[in-house]
Amino acid sequence: MSELYFGRTVPPLKEWGGRLPVALVFPEPAEHGLSTLGWQVVYRLLASREDLAVERFFWDPIPPRPRSVDSGRDLGLFPLVAFSLNFEGDFPAVLRMLGDAGIALKAEDRPEWPLVLAGGPLTFLNPFPVLPALDCLFVGEAEAGLSAMVDRVAAAWIKGEEKATALDAIAHLPGVLVPGKSRLPVRRQVCVEGDLILRNPGFSCFVSSEAQFRDMLLLEVNRGCPYGCRFCAAGSIYKPPRHAEMARLQEVVRLCAPHKVGLVGTALTDWPDLLPFLRWLEERKIKFSLSSLRADGLDDELLEFLRRTGTRSVTLALEGASARLRSAMNKHFSEEAFLDAVRRISRLQFNTLKLYMITGWPDEKEEDWVEFEEFLGQIDEARRQGQGMRRKGVDLISLSASCLVPKAWTPLQWAGVHDEDWIRRAMKRLKTAAARFRGMRFTGENPGQAQVQAFLARSGEEIFPFLERAAQVGLAAASRECAATIREALAKNPDKDTVFPWERLDVGVSRKFLYAEWKKYGHALLTPPCPDSGCQGCRLCGMDAFLAGSPR
Ligand code: SF4
Repeated sequence: MSELYFGRTVPPLKEWGGRLPVALVFPEPAEHGLSTLGWQVVYRLLASREDLAVERFFWDPIPPRPRSVDSGRDLGLFPLVAFSLNFEGDFPAVLRMLGDAGIALKAEDRPEWPLVLAGGPLTFLNPFPVLPALDCLFVGEAEAGLSAMVDRVAAAWIKGEEKATALDAIAHLPGVLVPGKSRLPVRRQVCVEGDLILRNPGFSCFVSSEAQFRDMLLLEVNRGCPYGCRFCAAGSIYKPPRHAEMARLQEVVRLCAPHKVGLVGTALTDWPDLLPFLRWLEERKIKFSLSSLRADGLDDELLEFLRRTGTRSVTLALEGASARLRSAMNKHFSEEAFLDAVRRISRLQFNTLKLYMITGWPDEKEEDWVEFEEFLGQIDEARRQGQGMRRKGVDLISLSASCLVPKAWTPLQWAGVHDEDWIRRAMKRLKTAAARFRGMRFTGENPGQAQVQAFLARSGEEIFPFLERAAQVGLAAASRECAATIREALAKNPDKDTVFPWERLDVGVSRKFLYAEWKKYGHALLTPPCPDSGCQGCRLCGMDAFLAGSPR
């Protein structure tokens, strides 16, 4: 694997003697792991320790047994196996890798080492479907306590103690969930130091031509988001919103000397130093790319700079088909500001405008789609106005529609899930609307896959047998076999008193706030974004009390 580590060759492997060998497993192909910041933050945190010998594992369907990409060693040899969970689709791969390594799938059948741990964003969303396979979870941002937990595991291993002794030693540590031992709910661990500064922004330690984001150093510009869109899990589980300081990001770039930088964040245009930082990169002939941008944050200066420095496409989030749906999901969206952004993007001759939207909202209906078609007409007109007499500007509007998956810890956790036929009809309706306009391309997510993701995202341990089957025959085949079970599970609509499996965690936002937001969804009422002053005295979502450690 050709890659650089902090801009230099990957460091030599450490001897195992007197150390705790750790398998850091990304249950997806290497190209994904090498483009995922969180996992790389954990790698840097653990691999920099002298008492650990850390090796990397990725999901690879070919070799019969999972092998380290660093040494070729077998996964079954490692006393600590640490999975990074990012998407629900990772669940079957976790079981498959354990099974292929000859490790018992269930923790209850595995009294001896290895100790199987999971961390990553899914552990503070809903990890419970796969929990029977895990000895423990670390719930939260790794920098905020993972090391303290690994200290105890390493000490137990090096002293030759039983795994049960190690689990007892960590069960009551902040952010640790050991089934049957830890006090519930387990609180999410957050890196917050009294202000909204992200002191240690994540950055990729591996830059590789095999990564999804080829040869790109990823930099975390902000964590969390102030806008509180009611479908967005990241907005909930990464509260409070924090942003990095430019000086720190400049330091990282100097350290790693990349050719290209990828800026990662949910509200990039809110970062006051965005343009100064991009100018700084340009002066050093370092290329850059940005994740999606908010229409209302796109001023002319930024757009002209992006166009002049080679950016060819701009991505904007439309989210819902109508103004009512956008208000219901708490999207602070101005149709006029959006159309104005389209006009300017076209006038500046960007080639492609990428639009993202979601269908499958509770009470979404024909009127929303009629309005959508009209709004697409306005977008198309705005593009033409931008092109002007020269007829030069955005040639392609690429519209991608995904299916709503009501997620844990969002106000939509009380929402029902439309069945596959309904989604197919909606996708067909949206496609027909887009087909009316030349230079507009529509792609829609596969409704069947979205149903399976919703099933995984909203279930608990009761679906572990399904995951075992999926590990054997693949998620698609297992889903076909269990289609009736999945339909039945998704047909159940939660009510006010439903207790969700994920409520054995405490991620900070209060149930009371989430339910009030769900009610506001029904009336398409907006909630203001997080105040610039931060959580202190805000009392809106419960994070202020959570951070203060006081009851909510
Ligand atoms: S307490 Fe207020 S500022 Fe803090 S995350 Fe919640 S809404 Fe945002």
